[in-house]
Amino acid sequence: MDRNRMIEPLYSDVLRRNPGEKEFHQAVREVLESLAPVLERHPEYAEASIVERLCEPERQLVFRVPWADDAGRIHVNRGFRVEFNSALGPYKGGLRFHPSVNLGIVKFLGFEQTLKNALTGKPIGGGKGGSDFDPKGRSDAEVMRFCQSFMTELYRHLGEYTDIPAGDIGVGVREIGYLFGQYRRITNRYESGVLTGKGVGWGGAQARSEATGYGLVVFTAEMLRARGEDLAGKRVTVSGSGNVALHAIEKAHQLGASVIACSDSTGYVLDEKGVDLELLKEIKLEQRGRVADYAEQRGGAARFVPGSSIWEVSCQVALPCATQNELAADDAVSLVRGGVQVIAEGANMPTTPDALRVLREAGVLFGPGKAANAGGVATSALEMQQNASRDSWTFSHTEERLTEIMQHIHETCHETAERYGQPGDYVAGANIAGFELVADAMVAQGLI
Ligand code: NDP
Repeated sequence: MDRNRMIEPLYSDVLRRNPGEKEFHQAVREVLESLAPVLERHPEYAEASIVERLCEPERQLVFRVPWADDAGRIHVNRGFRVEFNSALGPYKGGLRFHPSVNLGIVKFLGFEQTLKNALTGKPIGGGKGGSDFDPKGRSDAEVMRFCQSFMTELYRHLGEYTDIPAGDIGVGVREIGYLFGQYRRITNRYESGVLTGKGVGWGGAQARSEATGYGLVVFTAEMLRARGEDLAGKRVTVSGSGNVALHAIEKAHQLGASVIACSDSTGYVLDEKGVDLELLKEIKLEQRGRVADYAEQRGGAARFVPGSSIWEVSCQVALPCATQNELAADDAVSLVRGGVQVIAEGANMPTTPDALRVLREAGVLFGPGKAANAGGVATSALEMQQNASRDSWTFSHTEERLTEIMQHIHETCHETAERYGQPGDYVAGANIAGFELVADAMVAQGLI
């Protein structure tokens, strides 16, 4: 059968059933484009309507979150949890607190998460959640009251065998602490495995904060190695300066590369001598400052460029670690002109479809987020494992496990792309391998 005739009706159905959810459409489209050869080879998937079922979340929750600010004023935000697919295990995926959050964004993230979690080889299904609440500029007490109100509704849907949230944009260990405290209070259960990304002193895994950024760089190094090259000595740019970006910078430096630029939503900072990570961490984590403050405190060595795209900086390796659709076609053109060899996604879906086309035509190695940034959720699964056995592992043991998992994910994507006649295409490799794992479990478990 003509490949388009196989995929187009499935995609049209997704458009019709989910109007206006453009990020969700984009995420589904990219996966469907990889799946035609799989559906040809496996008629049992079409017979069981696996794609149609995969594109429809098992459950979608939308709820009111009222909270009071420090002046006693009442605010109302909207909370979301999309329990996407539990064929491989309980729903697992982060919570995002950012004003841009809406149902379509949560669905795109939950859809990606389902395939990503499958790639980790861990027994976890896919989900995602969050709120349009903006923690920026809010006091600790306000963030606490918001988290308590959010959990007062969400707790009834969670459980270590049901649904296990973690952090994402705007949700770090502080927010996970407030959420966990409220869950514990309401349920009267110290159920460590119900949230991951906890503080190390109260059930959190060593290396969980580092895991997404570290794993991303391990995956990037593996991609280069498969081409007979080395990350050491490469000039790297990293967008964002949050959890993923900071730890990607740290691991890139450990492996001998030089990160010369990073950013936030106000612009980017260029530091030709290599980003001073201690200073950047101090500013972002202790002072809750901006990259502009970094340039100021670094003296003459660094320059802040307001309102511009970091992708105008020439580099050999680019790691988008901020947010979705942050790397557009014109950015891809600049990167190619600047000699980029590898791009790997720390963020979820940071590269637009047009940008991806530019990179493919230019022969740039490309690591998609659902494979390259899977180290965070994989380490969350290790946290659940430690919680279940009342154990805690050392940093180095956990990091070793993380490295093995990332190498395995790389191998799986690489091998799957070859098996389907598309060597070196990690997008196809990740989409197909993740899909096959979920699809096989869904077929085996019957019509549920
Ligand atoms: P953080 O909140 O810690 O950091 C986000 C960073 O991205 C900040 O520097 C922020 O800048 C910047 N940013 C956000 N929105 C924009 C925007 N519209 N334009 C430019 N910069 C922006 O989040 P994380 O580091 O945890 O997450 C980053 C990405 O990685 C997300 O896509 C997330 O889904 C993905 N991810 C995260 C995982 C994790 O373990 N945390 C796991 C897997 C993927 P500013 O402060 O100015 O807003």
